[in-house]
Amino acid sequence: MPDYERSLHDTFFDLVRVPSPSLSEREVAKVVARKIRALGFEPLEDGAGEAIGGNCGNLVVKVPGSGSGPRILMAAHIDTVEKKGDPAAVPVVDGNWVSRDGGGILGADDKSGVAILLELLGRLRGREARHGDLLFAFTVAEEIECLGAAELDPDLFAGFDAGVVLDYSRPDEIVVAAPTKVAFRMEFNGVAGHAAAPERRINAAHVLAKTIARLPIGRLDPYTTSNIGIIRAGAAINVIPGSAYAEYEIRSHRKDVLDFHVHRIIGIIEGTVRENRIFAFGKDGGGFGDSVATGTEAPISSSVDVDVEVSYEGYRLDESSAPVRLLVSAVEKAGQTPGIITAQGGSDANILNRRNLPTAVLGCGMYGAHSDGERANLADMQNALETLTAMVMG
Ligand SMILES: [Zn+2]
Repeated sequence: MPDYERSLHDTFFDLVRVPSPSLSEREVAKVVARKIRALGFEPLEDGAGEAIGGNCGNLVVKVPGSGSGPRILMAAHIDTVEKKGDPAAVPVVDGNWVSRDGGGILGADDKSGVAILLELLGRLRGREARHGDLLFAFTVAEEIECLGAAELDPDLFAGFDAGVVLDYSRPDEIVVAAPTKVAFRMEFNGVAGHAAAPERRINAAHVLAKTIARLPIGRLDPYTTSNIGIIRAGAAINVIPGSAYAEYEIRSHRKDVLDFHVHRIIGIIEGTVRENRIFAFGKDGGGFGDSVATGTEAPISSSVDVDVEVSYEGYRLDESSAPVRLLVSAVEKAGQTPGIITAQGGSDANILNRRNLPTAVLGCGMYGAHSDGERANLADMQNALETLTAMVMG
């Protein structure tokens, strides 16, 4: 006798078998919409797809209540970190665990949450509405800075009491805080040329490397981490790259600490690039084989264009806030001991909190998200479903 319902298993399998990389969610959205209709509800698709350059919008389902009980938005994202063109995952079960045959991204992040919300809709079907108004949101493009959630129409949840996002691991864990993340996109400009004629050339890849070597990387303090994630430069070994590109991020639970670092980082980047101007002295090398050419002595310099953007704003919920109170009591009703967690990653909850809907995250049985060993635990998914059922139906 498994520790989960067969229909939860089947729904989850139907979802993970359909690839849905960010901005290409259409095929899985069709599966989700078909299931919603089969349960007797009508999904609405918003214009997020068009707005963010994807092929699909957010799907939302309104479930009107009788007027009593809290009004709650529940969300899970239908996109995954799979690459476009990846073959469909073949899920395999071992006890309560599901993984991808051969390893790799299963899509449990966040199809475990999507499956749970669909099962909850099934439980609400035909029930006398003893709950308050509910909104189910199946969002797109969460994995690329939560672009889909940012497009949700705020009128859909105006006056709501709480948001609950299913996008974490253990079903007894409630995420009440997440960091603010700032992204740096750096375009280094040098002067391109032949490797054998380096006079009056500036190697943009070298400027980039020296800059990155000075940036703080890793854990900076208990609240703050940073990372260099992308470096791109160069086309051939005998060409001095005239441009180079890097993406760097820093995230922190403390706004003051983050502001301090962001200013410092901008100073490091601009200061390093300024120093490299001294490498530009010398006569113009011209083309290869033309090293005796005497060109202009006009000063040349490297430069950098830095785009600094807040990817998402952090949040910290009070233990007395509606989503935390609702989830703590629901986890207990479902027979578990709630844990209050601070997350290091962002989610749609960052966006919803920013948009004045107090929103917490509940774990939904996914483990090893974004890794080759990503797995889902069906018993944990079942527990999350029981928690949401207790929260909504009392
Ligand atoms: Zn996720």
